[in-house]
Amino acid sequence: MNFAFDNTYARLPDRFHARVSPARVREPRVVKVNRALAELLGLDADRLASADGAQVLAGNTLPEGAESIALAYAGHQFGSFVSQLGDGRAILLGEVVGKDGKRRDIQLKGAGRTPFSRGGDGRAALGPVLREYVVSEAMAALGVPTTRALAAVTTGEPVYREEVLPGAVLTRVAASHIRVGTFQFFAARGDREALATLASYALSRHYPEAVGSGNDALALLDRVIAAQASLVARWLGVGFVHGVMNTDNTSISGETIDYGPCAFLDEYDPEKKFSSIDRGGRYAFGNQPGIAQWNMARLAEALLPLLAGDEKEAVRVATERVQSFTGLFVEAHERVLRAKLGLVREEDEDLALAADLLDRLASNRVDYTVFFRGLCASAADSAADAKLASLFAEPGAFRDWAEGWRRRLAREDVSPEARASAMRSVNPAFIPRNHRIEELIQAAVLRDDFGPYETLVQVLSRPYDDQPEFAHLSEPPQPEERVQYTFCGT
Ligand code: AMP
Ligand code: MG
Repeated sequence: MNFAFDNTYARLPDRFHARVSPARVREPRVVKVNRALAELLGLDADRLASADGAQVLAGNTLPEGAESIALAYAGHQFGSFVSQLGDGRAILLGEVVGKDGKRRDIQLKGAGRTPFSRGGDGRAALGPVLREYVVSEAMAALGVPTTRALAAVTTGEPVYREEVLPGAVLTRVAASHIRVGTFQFFAARGDREALATLASYALSRHYPEAVGSGNDALALLDRVIAAQASLVARWLGVGFVHGVMNTDNTSISGETIDYGPCAFLDEYDPEKKFSSIDRGGRYAFGNQPGIAQWNMARLAEALLPLLAGDEKEAVRVATERVQSFTGLFVEAHERVLRAKLGLVREEDEDLALAADLLDRLASNRVDYTVFFRGLCASAADSAADAKLASLFAEPGAFRDWAEGWRRRLAREDVSPEARASAMRSVNPAFIPRNHRIEELIQAAVLRDDFGPYETLVQVLSRPYDDQPEFAHLSEPPQPEERVQYTFCGT
């Protein structure tokens, strides 16, 4: 297998990782190879999809040049600190520099036990693997920074959860797997040297343009805060609820990582949460910016010994940077909302216009994605308003708002067609709807039917294109199809 590995993380000191081999599994079978991504990584997709490829993707054979390791990290889970987590069911094979010049990790998720497995079996079930494949690839196509899915294979072995399920392995591709929790791991051990090594490593790997300021940790903190502010604004733009924004699931690269109990909004509701274990709604849709900032405070805390010569000054600098998240997020969110509304110029009242709309969507329980896609048509021709208004419990709620929106549009010199087309490039027709994901998982797990999975992957690779033959996949669930809860992938 032709991976051109160049493994920088494996060359970091021993306490950063544990050397470990993937477990052997009985009967690997390829479910899917992501051909476009394989191509980008300089890999031969046909070989990956072959019987030999299945052996590699299931962890039975290590490709030449792989140095398999499990990464050490800690993390705050639902607000409580756990000083040792680490890759308990994921094994990094190594890093590959793609045709675009970007370095990426290739990791097998569900590849067996590691020194960080604690009580877990190190395995993954087919359902969560397919969910991560579909949702992470949809996010990439939506233009949201994310880890990717290179392949999914079944292992031919059962995994034991509440029920017996088919085992599977996801090949995850990420800019890196360094998390806020990786810094917390060393901070909790008072290991200043490892912290400094990691900060410099992460800065040069993810933000090379910021190297050379004289304080890598501070430069890194700045970049990560900006990346997270922008990321969460994009989540809100497409209605994504991450579901488990623990600090160990917060990537330093600014990619969305860890698709466990994640979900997309159907009707707009800032208080919406899906995760069965998120009882208090800590990670509800509208809480995500605040939680991301909280996570940035934990990163700043971990980096404290490196931020300045004396502690008081370090605290001052850290506080100032964490507070800067608010402004960065608001700016990024305004950009997202303006684009969704078809506004090009910036005016002071834009945010109020958007906030008023969101209130009306929430109180009328309007489907977020259907509404904004419909708004693109209304921007081209007000004849489309009637259909949009009919989405509201109280149609006047839309008509009132639309008057103000049209007055605002009139102040911009953009043709209706050009505006509608720009809006269609930010307001998707297709998102990975929860009931469709449930459906494809059921078909695959219960009937060995991967048809619905294949179809959804294909449709979601072009989420901004109308695909009339797949219109049913853009529709909200019928009441009996609604998914109330999602579960962690474990
Ligand atoms: P997550 O909820 O996926 O972010 O995982 C939290 C922690 O639990 C991480 O340290 C994982 O490696 C670990 N973990 C999750 N599932 C398993 C499993 N099946 N076996 C071993 N460790 C696991
Ligand atoms: Mg995780």
